[in-house]
Amino acid sequence: MIKVSDIERIDQADVKNKTVLVRVDFNVPIENDLVVDATRIEKSIPTIEYLLKEDAKIILVTHRGRPKGTDSSLSLAPVVTKLQELLPNIAIQFYKDDLKNLGKITEKLTAKSILLIENIRFHSEETSKEKSERKKLADQISKFADVYVNEAFGASHRAHSSIVEMAENLPRYAGFLLDKEIRVLSSIITNAEKPVVAIIGGAKISSKIEIIEKLIPKVNTIIIGGAMAYTFLKSRALSMGNSMLEKEYLSKAFQIVDKASMARCQFLLPDDHIVADEFSSKAKIKTVKKEIPDGFMGMDIGPKTIDKYSKAIKNAKTVFWNGPMGVFEIDKFAKGTNEIAKAVSKIKGVSIVGGGDSVHAIKKAGLAEKITHISTGGGASLEFLEGKEMPGLKVLIS
Ligand code: AMP
Repeated sequence: MIKVSDIERIDQADVKNKTVLVRVDFNVPIENDLVVDATRIEKSIPTIEYLLKEDAKIILVTHRGRPKGTDSSLSLAPVVTKLQELLPNIAIQFYKDDLKNLGKITEKLTAKSILLIENIRFHSEETSKEKSERKKLADQISKFADVYVNEAFGASHRAHSSIVEMAENLPRYAGFLLDKEIRVLSSIITNAEKPVVAIIGGAKISSKIEIIEKLIPKVNTIIIGGAMAYTFLKSRALSMGNSMLEKEYLSKAFQIVDKASMARCQFLLPDDHIVADEFSSKAKIKTVKKEIPDGFMGMDIGPKTIDKYSKAIKNAKTVFWNGPMGVFEIDKFAKGTNEIAKAVSKIKGVSIVGGGDSVHAIKKAGLAEKITHISTGGGASLEFLEGKEMPGLKVLIS
């Protein structure tokens, strides 16, 4: 695992009057051309302000969505508007032109100004599997900068041009947000105050099985919610009706429960469920214990389970939460997720929440202020905790 101390932070760099290329993660939710959640932008402001204070010229690079070539519906124009609102006294230019002409603009940049380059994924080289292609794109931009800063934790598990090759071309540093993300997440594994409770929910066991296995020896309790709970319960020969299941993971799920018990890691699964006769807001619903009858599917954890999980969370000194407890997008199946959000927000220790859905639940309930750290990277935070090599972090220490 990457040690925070191995990575140099921006305040260790000489950025005075320099042109600094900052890879941010401004991939924010946008509706009707308006940014509806600016958290990721706001959290990068301390790094931007630090650089402005040092009279740097800033080139910001970010992606938005997954465009296939140029796609005006995924333009960063709404992001520029939001950023300008957050930094009203700073000149922010939006660069949409061909990168070949970038030099003409960067040479005119003055101290304390910002140039934000249009969605970097409009260039297919950004995500190319060919390093030479990614390098071509990186060279076009990095030649106008003196220093590279990674402030995009949520994209650092990707071997993309703006994450790896642009960094390779320049002296490279972590921004304050990236530094905080890895410091807080490392602390779960290295020196978290016990009891440590990990709450893992969501649709698929397949996407989180590795992290669950990795957490067993590190944490005191693992709480499972969402559809993935049904594969665990089914592996213990309980009927799960028409619930979402991943049959190919039954034996792995069975082994994980055993492994947890051998490691004395408490492994909590739902005791009751909110079930529905169809996957819809109009479905007929009822609460059932343990098993789910044919013709019904599990949609949320039931009241007994909420109670059991809340009690386990209450005693925790450290909590990590990723993934919803049910189909929280539909109000009648959101209670489990909302109650867990409340329980997490009340603990007297360190609470860390990652992943779009859990973060959304916390914010919707107005509880964000009560959480120690809301990670800006869902997938990235899981990969970091799994101990996977993250290309964007590796390049910072090489
Ligand atoms: P993930 O991306 O794996 O964290 O999964 C998030 C998705 O899991 C959300 O869109 C939820 O609606 C979905 N989900 C949670 N519980 C269930 C369930 N019981 N059945 C089907 N989908 C679920």
